[in-house]
Amino acid sequence: VITMDKQNRKAIIAGNWKMNKTATEAKALISELIPAVKDAGCEVVICVPFTDLVTAVEMTKGTNIHVGAENVHFEKSGAFTGEISADMLTDLGVEYVVIGHSERRQYFAETNETVNKRTKAALAGGLKPIICVGEKLSEKQMGITEEIVCLQTKAALHGVSRTQLDEVVIAYEPIWAIGTGMTATPEDANQTIRAIRNAIRDVYGDVAQNIRILYGGSMNDKNARDLMAQSDIDGGLIGGASLVAEKFEKIVNYNR
Ligand code: PEP
Repeated sequence: VITMDKQNRKAIIAGNWKMNKTATEAKALISELIPAVKDAGCEVVICVPFTDLVTAVEMTKGTNIHVGAENVHFEKSGAFTGEISADMLTDLGVEYVVIGHSERRQYFAETNETVNKRTKAALAGGLKPIICVGEKLSEKQMGITEEIVCLQTKAALHGVSRTQLDEVVIAYEPIWAIGTGMTATPEDANQTIRAIRNAIRDVYGDVAQNIRILYGGSMNDKNARDLMAQSDIDGGLIGGASLVAEKFEKIVNYNR
């Protein structure tokens, strides 16, 4: 059942390019994307490698494509060789940032604590965080999915004010579904997303109804419509399928 609450939340389809596309390749893909997604009914976001951000921001000026980074450091500036601050991103015109992607949690020692620090730094710097949460296959098999994702959500949002919460987007990405071709069923994804929304309601009250919570994990042009028909799924975070203009276009236009 689609409720009024869902209609009040503008859907987002966000691409996560991961470590793909040189600036030269980004230019080619964005040239294809601009006309392909121009009539989208949802908000369209592309989260791209740091080295593609200037190209992406310049090329998408005056279009309906919003640009995000894939990570942000939690300190404002200083001796953190190799890191990128929120101010560096907003100064370029970057609007969103992915935080706590499972690949960062798995390969780069990202924890609930660092996710929380990055979230607060992003918000303080004027970026909209897309915070990723999701259970491992073993956790799903133990039946603790909701506990895991609610814990991750509450930890990520610790110390975030009610006003700042409006800028937050959550992406529920079951880890076993990322890049595997396995998708959560629309019903299971919706149930977990409802649990996340309830966890936000525990802390912030009814404003939880305004928070956009996306699904991610092998979302494609075939399954997008069914996922998006659910009461609490407000969009998608798309990995592999965001690298091919025709595929991303079909997901963005899931309503047609
Ligand atoms: C992701 O990396 O956020 C993701 C959902 O990847 P994929 O769509 O390829 O599963």
